[in-house]
Amino acid sequence: MRLRTLDDLGDVAGKTVFLRADFNVPLENGGVADDARIRATLPTITELLDHNASLVIASHLGRPKGKVKEDLRMEPVASRLRDLLDREVESVAFPGALSADAAAKQVEDARSPVVLLENLRFDSREEANDTTFAGELAAFADAYVDDAFGAAHRAHASVSALPELMIASGRPAVAGRLLQREVEVLSGLLEHPEKPYVAVLGGAKISDKLGTISALAARADALLIGGAMAFTLIAADGGQVGDSLVEPDRFDDVRRARKQAEERGVLIQLPKDVVAAADVSVDAERSTVPADAIPKGRKGLDIGPRTVEEFARTIADAHTILWNGPMGVFELEPFSAGTRGVATAIAGAKAFSVVGGGDSLLAVKRLGLEDSFDHLSTGGGASLELLEGKTLPGIEVLEER
Ligand code: ADP
Ligand code: MG
Repeated sequence: MRLRTLDDLGDVAGKTVFLRADFNVPLENGGVADDARIRATLPTITELLDHNASLVIASHLGRPKGKVKEDLRMEPVASRLRDLLDREVESVAFPGALSADAAAKQVEDARSPVVLLENLRFDSREEANDTTFAGELAAFADAYVDDAFGAAHRAHASVSALPELMIASGRPAVAGRLLQREVEVLSGLLEHPEKPYVAVLGGAKISDKLGTISALAARADALLIGGAMAFTLIAADGGQVGDSLVEPDRFDDVRRARKQAEERGVLIQLPKDVVAAADVSVDAERSTVPADAIPKGRKGLDIGPRTVEEFARTIADAHTILWNGPMGVFELEPFSAGTRGVATAIAGAKAFSVVGGGDSLLAVKRLGLEDSFDHLSTGGGASLELLEGKTLPGIEVLEER
């Protein structure tokens, strides 16, 4: 299915474009702690402004649950956007203080070509995919552009009902450059990855990523599994994992996924050694032990050096690499070597490399390796769902029909 993009938008000069962005950024002391997601949408914003469109930009921020929350206002985002664009960004207090009519009037009278609406989730109708709310948003604009990949897996008003309504009323609804690139790269991994295709998975909970593991078991040539999720696989196989994080109610699921992978001849690599400690703390006494013989009272908190070496060897031969999920509790220095080792191996590999997941991206950033990956996906849940081959409501609606 072909995604409609800015190339299908037609002439936008003098028109108002509603841009759904993903400005769901981390905040700190009333400011934006990391503006990567804002920067990621700048190419779309600049392209539209270069074509003399006016923009009404909207996003959600955090989880205000349908109520106005002072600490989740968009003002810090507006302020960072002003700096990045080096131009005025007018804030419109909708949803929230203003009625839809008053907001539409303010948008019409705005002196700046860039207007930023208030946090969309201040209105409970956003998450309810409410068509009346979508109608109020549609009244702002002549065209709709979606660049919010991080929200594409949610059927919410600004990404689902709104583009539906725009199309139904004869107005264009297309993907921005960021969403376009995310879909191109991730559906490329789904449909025609260059082989060998190696997937490196980690993170805390296997239940979050079981669907991904099954989907990758059907497509990849090798699955390298680290992080806490490895312990559910090792324990399901009868290994002693001490007090490591395990989800026993998933034993059957992981056995099934593993069998499926083995039938396809997929190489599954689990940790051979792990760094274990009694507590998740920098002062805890730690030792490197076999991954299936972790003493009672100790948890596996990182993959060990031998595992890093083995994973790195598979990574070096890959032509395509997908990485999602840290190999250990990388936030704490004593348990960060596994994640660092794997990240460095992927960064140095010749393969086309893609990273997804908020924590994995943070690890890449801390290591200063952002430029060594071919694609850093801005969507956590959305990228996993796309990789599973699921239909995402925010993307489906923008496809040619
Ligand atoms: P991502 O955001 O990249 O998708 P997840 O959210 O799935 O990754 O997992 C990240 C979290 O997993 C990190 O906070 C990390 O500390 C934790 N983690 C990784 N390995 C372990 C482990 N062995 N034990 C406990 N927590 C772990
Ligand atoms: Mg995470």
